[in-house]
This record gives sequence, C-alpha cells and structure tokens, in this order.
Amino acid sequence: HSEATVIVADDITPADIILLHQQGVAAFISEHGGPLSHTAILVRSLGVPAVFGLHHARRMVVDGEIIIVDGDNGHAIAGPDALALAWYEKRQQLDKDYRRELGRLKSEPAITQDGHTVCLMANIELPEDSVSAYDNGAHGVGLFRTEFLYMNREKMPDEEEQLEAYRRVLEAARGPVTIRTLDLGADKQVDSGRSQSPTATNPALGLRAIRLCLKEQDMFRVQLRALLRASSFGEMRIMLPMISNLQELRQALHLIEETKDDLRRQSLAYNEKVQVGAMIEVPAAALAAPLLARYADFFSIGTNDLIQYTLAIDRVDDEVNYLYDPLHPAVLRLIQITIEAGAQAGIPVAMCGEMASDPRYTRLLLGLGLTEFSMNPGSLLEIKRIIRHSDTRGLRGIVQRLLASTNSAEMHELIEQLAAPALH
Ligand code: PEP
Ligand code: MG
Repeated sequence: HSEATVIVADDITPADIILLHQQGVAAFISEHGGPLSHTAILVRSLGVPAVFGLHHARRMVVDGEIIIVDGDNGHAIAGPDALALAWYEKRQQLDKDYRRELGRLKSEPAITQDGHTVCLMANIELPEDSVSAYDNGAHGVGLFRTEFLYMNREKMPDEEEQLEAYRRVLEAARGPVTIRTLDLGADKQVDSGRSQSPTATNPALGLRAIRLCLKEQDMFRVQLRALLRASSFGEMRIMLPMISNLQELRQALHLIEETKDDLRRQSLAYNEKVQVGAMIEVPAAALAAPLLARYADFFSIGTNDLIQYTLAIDRVDDEVNYLYDPLHPAVLRLIQITIEAGAQAGIPVAMCGEMASDPRYTRLLLGLGLTEFSMNPGSLLEIKRIIRHSDTRGLRGIVQRLLASTNSAEMHELIEQLAAPALH
C-alpha cells in the first residue's frame, strides 16, 4: 500500500535490518547476498518479504514506484501492471487462507502416522521472537542466536543486561530453551566487538564463533556467567557453535565449570546440571561426532554452515549459491553420521539449520531418523502438517536406497517419493 517502503540496496547487514525493521520497512531487495546469509535468516524470522542477489536492482527501480517483492520465488517486479497486481493480490489472499488453515494445527501434536512424536522447536533471534514461537505452537526454543543482542551498539552488553535478556526468554518459555554462545565473525560483525583481522581473506574460515570466544576469554566469561545465572530461571541448555575438534569442546566445558565455581563462591544461583551441547556444522565435527558425543549432552546440526564448509561455497556469495545443495550425498552422509552417533551415545540430536524448515526435506530428515527440528516460527505449522501426513516406516527404506544410489535417475525418482504431500 502507499505508505509501505521497500529498501533496495547494494548489500544489507543484519544490523541494518534490525534498525530498518524498527522503522516499519515492508520489504527488502539486495543486489548481493543469498538466502542463507544471516541477514536473510533474520529477515525471514521477522516475516518480512525479501529477495537477495538481485544484481543491478538499483538501476531498474525508480524512487516512488510500486514494487512487488515475491520472496517465495525470488522475484521482484517494479512498476507492475494491473494484471500482475491482481494476480499477486489473489496470491496474498490464498496465502492468508492457507495460514489460517494451518493455524488449526497449533495445538495438535507433531506426530507421524506411525506414532512417532517429533519435537518442533523455534529459532529465535531476539527475545521478543518468543511470542511468535509459542503462537505457532513451538515446544521450546532450539536455537537462540545471542549475537543479535550485540548489534548496533558501541559497548558489549554486560552480564546483567545479558542475564535480563536470557531470563526474559526463559520466563516466556513453555519448554526447554537452547541458548547459543556468541557466534560472531564472518557475516555477523558487530560494532562493539573485535573487528576482523586484517589478514582474514576467508572470514568464514577464520576466528569466529567458539574460536573467537576461546581467544577472547574475558568476553566469553561474561556471557557464561550470565547464561549460568539464567539457568536457574528455567529449563535452559547451552549450545556451542562451530566446534571443530574435541579440544575446543573440552576447553569450553572447562571454562563453564570454572565459571560455576566462581558463582558458587559468590553464592549466586545457577543450575548445576545445565546441559551443554555442540553444534555440528563443520564436516570434521560430523565425522568426529562419535567422539564428541562422549562429552556433549546433545548435538544440533547447523546445516547452513555444514553445507557451506562441506561443499566449499560461501553461503553469502550469490555467485556460487547455485551449488548450495542440501541433497548432495556428502551432506546427507554427514547428517546421517551425526544422527547415528547421537543415537549410539544416547544423546538427543536436533537440526537448527534452514534445511529443517524447508518442506522439501522434511520427509528425508524423518527417514534419516531426525526427531527434533528447530526453525523460524513461521515455518513450524507447515512442517507439522507434513510430519502428520508422513509414515516413517516407508521413509527409512527410501532414504537408505537414496544414500546407496549411484544412479542419478534413480536418485531423482527417490527424491520425488520424498516430496512433501499435497495440501489437501
Ligand atoms: C547453521 O549454521 O546452520 C546455524 C544454524 O547457525 P547460523 O546460521 O547462525 O550460522
Ligand atoms: Mg552456523
């Protein structure tokens, strides 16, 4: 409508999105970046339409004209004619009707036809996202990305401010809450944090996430103190991003134990039994999952990074985005190894990367034995619908054949069989 603003930019960072969203921007178009970037993930969680990697977009739009932003299909239409407008208005209406219908599933269980219960959790970026998580029937929070608390500010949030943010999420919770320790670096930069090293030509392979935290231990300890103190307010789990070897996991666990000692000495409350898990998002971690499982209380598969690192494609580079393939046999094998390692060790395995929210892969993941999915709140009911229409007995066989197949025609046929069921 007339007041809605569409931002058309060269590139947009997560920090820009937070600021612009607060000003009521209706949609975003960016000439660069891809759908797996943190900017795109944040936009999706806000429910704002966006298209990324639309080269030369700024040259093709005129200030003040109407733009249709079709985030589902990655299209933007500047200056649409009456026919296009009518068509998209109809689609908007159909989408609303479908969402209303999905709304009926909110309180229904996520259970397959053969009686397997699946745990559906939400990914949240900001404490206030909890509202839409539970509005969409989430069982809890499978991933709270804490780095967004650190954006658009000059100073890092201190222990009390972090404690307050975690406590808010825990107090709103209706199930377990998994809070991830800082995952800064690469495409998640903050003004107040450590800036990128001048020699880092491959920031995704550089000092990010747990690596940065283990190096900047003063900063990490502040977060660990806040997390542990928050653990006394509800069922909270701590998740460590980008673990690539056992040493990192053990070092982080050691710091957590030291922080507990400090809190105990100061008579500050925390949950002694707080669960600590590892994200599996580096191929080495997936391959070493049986070893990591001896020390981790749970795993969560981060497919956004796992696919980036396995296939050697930068997730924010739109030039190589076409290679981003969750169905690549190497990716499927790494997911399978992780799920099996978790089952062997008796620890839960979740998936919190975008693959978990994509209806094209739900049945495949069920067939691989995944029982915990975490995703942006807006996708929860659609995935629940598919789960309720699925029977894992048949799916396991199809997935085993898919993993063993070397014939691309057969693989396509098996993938067709795993497609999401039709709406009605
Ligand atoms: C992932 O890598 O899949 C993930 C969930 O973490 P992030 O997208 O924040 O890197
Ligand atoms: Mg990641």
